[in-house]
Amino acid sequence: MSKFNYLMVLLLSFSVSALGQDYYSDIWLPLSKIYEQHTESTELFVLGQSDEDPIWGIRIGTGDIHQLVVSGHHGNEIGSIAQSIRLARSLAEDPLENRTIFVIPSLIPETFGSKRHLNSVDPNRNYPGPCGSNDTVYSSEAFSLRATALLRDFIDPDFNHEYEKRLGIPEINIVAALSLHNKGNTVHYPYSFQENALTPDATLFKELLNEAFEEGPYEVGLFPTYYYTMQGSFIDWAYWAYGIWAVLIEMGTEKDMSEGELDSDAKYSIPAMRYFLKNAPEHRTTPRQAPACDLNKMSPLGG
Ligand SMILES: [Zn+2]
Repeated sequence: MSKFNYLMVLLLSFSVSALGQDYYSDIWLPLSKIYEQHTESTELFVLGQSDEDPIWGIRIGTGDIHQLVVSGHHGNEIGSIAQSIRLARSLAEDPLENRTIFVIPSLIPETFGSKRHLNSVDPNRNYPGPCGSNDTVYSSEAFSLRATALLRDFIDPDFNHEYEKRLGIPEINIVAALSLHNKGNTVHYPYSFQENALTPDATLFKELLNEAFEEGPYEVGLFPTYYYTMQGSFIDWAYWAYGIWAVLIEMGTEKDMSEGELDSDAKYSIPAMRYFLKNAPEHRTTPRQAPACDLNKMSPLGG
């Protein structure tokens, strides 16, 4: 860890401790423990400041292939937030070859452990998409939340030079991403913005995810097949705008999973997520024209 980063981590850890005890003890402490046990291969970082709190992450490995794991778009879905930390621990203890994996467990710290929305905005409808975002309907813009704008800055090559400098990585190039949520035991690939909107990569996505989740209760398919359409989701945007192999997982059967539920889910979900990260394509796909937005193929307000 560079001196600059170490100092920042130290300073922010003090400011964090004055805030919600949960965010500090449930996110910062386990991440720093992983870092302390793997100082050679991991580094703590701050994505930036959300409304009130710093958004913590951990970089695992130094390989050429960059991948992202983000949970806590919905702060009340704490089961998947907990599993992202288990995944980070697993990746630090048993690294995937040639990978640098950035894990951000709680993207919206202000909502951690309590709620879905921040400032009446659903963070996982706060990205641009072929049909706009749900929040357009509520007259707020894509990236109106600081956290989603920061995640864009981290991913977009036009914006991420500051992160490259700070993390000492010449070129951050996220190729695959997992976006973790609760609940439903389902796994989804783009698109979600309307019914039956398949990408040219749908077959590859489906085959890879079916292999990854072969064991256990998880089912693989398009999000609207299981739930409803959603406009402005992270995975649609990451694929549509950049060609990132982005996948959404609705973990478990409860938003707030007990330790026992976390344990039994982890038996399947952790190896499956590792399998995906290990076997996902090593380059971004070419972003292609999405199907035209058809309002008749959208659920009312997208749920
Ligand atoms: Zn969610």
